[in-house]
Order: sequence, then structure tokens, then C-alpha cells
Amino acid sequence: MATISLRNVRKSFGTVEVVKGVSFEVANGDFAVLVGPSGCGKSTLLRMIAGLESITDGDLLIDGKRINDVPPDQRGIAMVFQSYALYPHMTVAENIGFSLDLKKIPKADIAREVGRVAELLQLSSLLDRRPAALSGGQRQRVAIGRAIIKQPRVILFDEPLSNLDASLRVQMRAELQKLHQELKPTIIYVTHDQVEAMTMASKIVVLNQGEVAQWNAPIELYRHPESTFVATFIGSPR
Ligand code: ADP
Ligand code: MG
Repeated sequence: MATISLRNVRKSFGTVEVVKGVSFEVANGDFAVLVGPSGCGKSTLLRMIAGLESITDGDLLIDGKRINDVPPDQRGIAMVFQSYALYPHMTVAENIGFSLDLKKIPKADIAREVGRVAELLQLSSLLDRRPAALSGGQRQRVAIGRAIIKQPRVILFDEPLSNLDASLRVQMRAELQKLHQELKPTIIYVTHDQVEAMTMASKIVVLNQGEVAQWNAPIELYRHPESTFVATFIGSPR
């Protein structure tokens, strides 16, 4: 179980406040999409949820428990970035299994887990390859495999498909949705692509200059945008 709540979360870098009292909740197993223009604070928010960035003020909770000060590796949260950052000298299998290797889990158990994840992501035939010999889509799948191998309760995606070409993006969207249906993690997915937001989200959080402009199911946002900003962003006829 992992319901994520943000209550009046703020972030300042020096004297500049970039996240200005953000509150929303993502229910357990939901696929929430966070959208908003470049620089509005999406990545900063995700990094605070992951624990990669400190929270200046406000509360971050999982299932009602405040986790502001819980170290990143104890949150049960995995993050997938836009740039895949795979280890170039390692094979696909080694890249996917790396975090388990660190935990000194027996080799046979790691191999079994890597096999399970590889099958889910259609990477089974590529396990011995190195990243340089993979396509962009395959590399991104390896990055996703690395994130899900520890069976996180929560997966955060920061514009994971924006480096891929359009047709591959459509295919990967479908794969991510399938993954969500099979594993049922709570997902917060950042994109600036409205189509991606409208098709994948159970809830959309629209962020504007560090504040939540609106937060609702896609169809509700489309039908009842509360501002011209949201209407324009979602593409609804207002
Ligand atoms: P987005 O992901 O929505 O494009 P970011 O969260 O990356 O936006 O950035 C939000 C704002 O915070 C931007 O103005 C950015 O320049 C600023 N910012 C992000 N990280 C830092 C940092 N480490 N130090 C100073 N300013 C930062
Ligand atoms: Mg960003």
C-alpha cells in the first residue's frame, strides 16, 4: 500500500522559492500525471518525493506517515529519469540486477528476478548485450527494469519517453500502462505531453509556476477547467 500525500510542500533554492505550497494526494495504485510548462517545478517535486532533494517546508506522507526525513533508499520509491544513465560497461542483465547485487543477494536469486523483469519488459533476448548495442526504446526499458526490480511501492517517472521518437513513444506508453496493470504500483509520471497525460492518467495534477493550478481526473479537467491556463494546457474547448 502506498498513498502519497503532499501537504503545503515548499522548496526554495537560496532565496528563490520554486515550489510554493503544493498539496495533492495520489491514492494507492493510482497513475497520476504531473504536467506543466518547463521550469514550473515538476522535477523538483519528484526529487523531493524520492528524497533526492530536501523539503524546505510542508509534509510528505506515505499512508499517513511523514517521510520528510526518511533516507531515499528506505522509502520504497524508485525513479526513472529522462536520460537513462545505464552503466556502459555492464550487460543488460547486470544493469537490471545492479541494485540487488549491492544488497549481496545470492546470484541465483538475482538471476531469477532479472529474468522475471526482463520478460515483463521484453528484454529476455537482450540480457547479454551492452547498452551501446541497444535502441533508445530498449535502453529506456532497461532503465525501467532497474527501477522495478526491487518491487517499489511507488515509481516516479520524469519525462521518461521524451527522448524517443513518436511511434516508439506510443508503443512505450502502452507498455507502461500494461506494467502498471500487472504490478499495481502507485505512479507519479511527469510529462509535458498532453496526449500522454490524457491517455495515461487516472488523475492529473496541473502545475504552474510552483503551484497546483488544478488537480482532477482527466475528463473532469477537460470538461471543467478552472482557469484559462488549465484549459489551454489540457486543450479543452473553453
Ligand atoms: P521542470 O521540471 O518543471 O522543468 P524544475 O523542477 O527542473 O522544473 O525547476 C523548477 C525551477 O527551479 C527552475 O526555475 C529551475 O531553474 C530551478 N531549479 C531547479 N533545480 C535547482 C537547483 N539545484 N538550484 C537552483 N535552482 C534550481
Ligand atoms: Mg523537469
